[in-house]
Amino acid sequence: MTIDTSAALRARVAELFPALQADLEALVRIPSVSAAAFDQAYVAASAAATEQLLRDVGLPDVQILSAPRPDGTPGAPAVVARRPAPEGAPTVLLYAHHDVQPPGDPATWDTDPFEPTQVGERLFGRGAADDKAGIVAHLGALRALGLPDGADLPVGVTVFLEGEEESGSPSFRAFLEEHRDLLAADVIVVADSTNWKVGVPALTTSLRGLVDGEVELRVLEHAVHSGMFGGAVLDAVTLMSRLVATFHDEAGDVAIEGLVTAPEPEVDYDEAALRADSSLLDGVSLAGTGTVSGRLWTKPALSVIGMDVTSVAEASNTIAPSCTAKISLRLAPGQDPAAADEALAAHVAKHAPFGAHVTWHPGEAGKPFFAPGDSAAMRAARAAFTEAWGTAPVDVGVGGSIPFIADLLEVFPSAAILVTGVEDPDSRAHGANESVHLGELQKVVLAEALLLTKIAAGL
Ligand SMILES: [Zn+2]
Repeated sequence: MTIDTSAALRARVAELFPALQADLEALVRIPSVSAAAFDQAYVAASAAATEQLLRDVGLPDVQILSAPRPDGTPGAPAVVARRPAPEGAPTVLLYAHHDVQPPGDPATWDTDPFEPTQVGERLFGRGAADDKAGIVAHLGALRALGLPDGADLPVGVTVFLEGEEESGSPSFRAFLEEHRDLLAADVIVVADSTNWKVGVPALTTSLRGLVDGEVELRVLEHAVHSGMFGGAVLDAVTLMSRLVATFHDEAGDVAIEGLVTAPEPEVDYDEAALRADSSLLDGVSLAGTGTVSGRLWTKPALSVIGMDVTSVAEASNTIAPSCTAKISLRLAPGQDPAAADEALAAHVAKHAPFGAHVTWHPGEAGKPFFAPGDSAAMRAARAAFTEAWGTAPVDVGVGGSIPFIADLLEVFPSAAILVTGVEDPDSRAHGANESVHLGELQKVVLAEALLLTKIAAGL
């Protein structure tokens, strides 16, 4: 692409942006929370609204589809819009999701979560970033390229907007398999991650995986008097605490044998920023060793996320016979979840304190993701991002998991997957006061339009 075309596209995106912002605001006003406790009519409404937006772009084939969940109930509605590739040309799949997280306690928000509110350069509202901004990124790129008349853009486009990402994508795998022909692509752009910071773009090249489960520890058939038996019998909570203490070494690194650690990332996360972002109290040391970004992205992490014990209010002078803890283990890129689950099961069996009866009940598993270092699609994305921002993107990892990425890789093994971002470190996705930086969103739109032209010009 010549400088001239790039400048023309930049001007076109700037001209289109007010309408895109209005479309984003209209989507934020639909409280499309996919969690089961919320009214799913709003998820249907956001599917209908995005379907209309894609029709208006001029994509010739727009449908609302769903697939069954593993329990047999229908999955949330997804929107699929296509413009078939000319003979021999590549197809690009543009993914985002139209459902959102629950808003949480409205009192923790400074503005109404479902009334988009601009403050300075940021637009606040649930879904303003995650991931209705991703939808707008795709819409904006297609509008900027003048679809459907953009006849000089020899590339097929499929837009795929999921409706249940925030609920763990339960029908995603079935959806991919049922609609494999509709979704097949050479390049998949997943616009649901983050940039490095305002002014610096990023490609997400690794995501951690996850296994969780419950450790059940039993020491007595029934509760007994702590005065009569205390001293000779340890209670289940004390024994569970001793077991939980074996999960980390003295430095705070995970001490479970056999888990994978991936290479250190190329950028580090500033310790002061991490302290502020996580609200770590003064005087509390960080856990783990190595770079901060490595601890967050390329090493395993284990948290105890729940424990069944007698509450303080209901406490009596008895020795607890049993205790159950829910364990969440984040997996480094390259880690097989089944192997991690086995390692965790072996660890709890080996470290059962005082011969207590310990049982591991496996829970959910999600695979990690590690992008191939240097595909043609990655080079095209880096060049597009560099043009849009005027600065090269950095490779970032994400400590969280997007398990559906592994499904995409398995169902479409030959596709190149690009995980791009609309968020920045202040976006507070999933939290109160979620927002998107509008200047950055405009650059995201431009970058995606540039990327499509580069893919069209040949990978
Ligand atoms: Zn998301």
